[in-house]
Amino acid sequence: MRRGRVVLVGAGPGDPELITVKGLGWLRRADVVVYDRLVAPALLEEAPAAALRIYAGKARGRHCIPQSAISPLLIHHAEAGRLVVRLKGGDPFVFGRGGEEVIACRAAGVRVEVVPGISSAVAAPASAGIPVTHRGLASSFAVVTAHEDPSKPGTDVDWEGLARGVGTLVVLMGVGSLPIVSARLIAAGRPPSTKAAVISRATTAAQAVVTGTLADIAERARHLSPPATIVIGEVVRLAGAGEPVEGADRERGYAGV
Ligand code: SAH
Repeated sequence: MRRGRVVLVGAGPGDPELITVKGLGWLRRADVVVYDRLVAPALLEEAPAAALRIYAGKARGRHCIPQSAISPLLIHHAEAGRLVVRLKGGDPFVFGRGGEEVIACRAAGVRVEVVPGISSAVAAPASAGIPVTHRGLASSFAVVTAHEDPSKPGTDVDWEGLARGVGTLVVLMGVGSLPIVSARLIAAGRPPSTKAAVISRATTAAQAVVTGTLADIAERARHLSPPATIVIGEVVRLAGAGEPVEGADRERGYAGV
């Protein structure tokens, strides 16, 4: 049987212990590991010493390896009979472009499978003590990206619809756009007093959490650096596992959560 194949593995949100048992199993057998910027460095040590490690992340907003070259790279090594682990932050299919890579592998006749990962979309809120749904506060949540410029009319994200129709909003890749996102949600009818939180570097030793309201979260979280996840909705009241958030001015490190 040929060994060559591609396995897309979700590396989890940051803490290297948050990879799945199954994902770690593949990683420990990999011949080639193609990994992204947000993958915990400690995970790379789990691959065999002889494994080829290829960085496919972005440097200052520019791809080192353009996305268009990543799939051919995966296919090349798999066709040479190698077990290729494509290690992606969080879950491979949540804003991870994993779908494109799976499609390309299938089109090339390369065996490909996916090992889901713990997405920062739920792990970042959870690590700050925020349940994305909570009886009486939110019965739905949506995960969106603010990577696109939300002020552009052509955006795929229906901010007006989200403002009205969804309980909790989780925004990825949104720190830079937070002033625009908040303004749009307020304009679409979400009360400015709606609770909001930004969780930076969730599940790592550098985790930082800032809470506030739609009206002031952009200002309060201005100093936080990416990667960061924004949570908007009344569930943010539960941040810090039950401590009152009156005043909403806390900022803590990981140990305090
Ligand atoms: N596939 C990934 C998301 C990729 S998009 C997943 O499922 O988690 C990258 C975005 O994810 C970042 O801009 C940020 O919004 C979020 N993110 C990733 N790691 C994070 C972390 N440790 N803490 C907070 N947000 C994180």
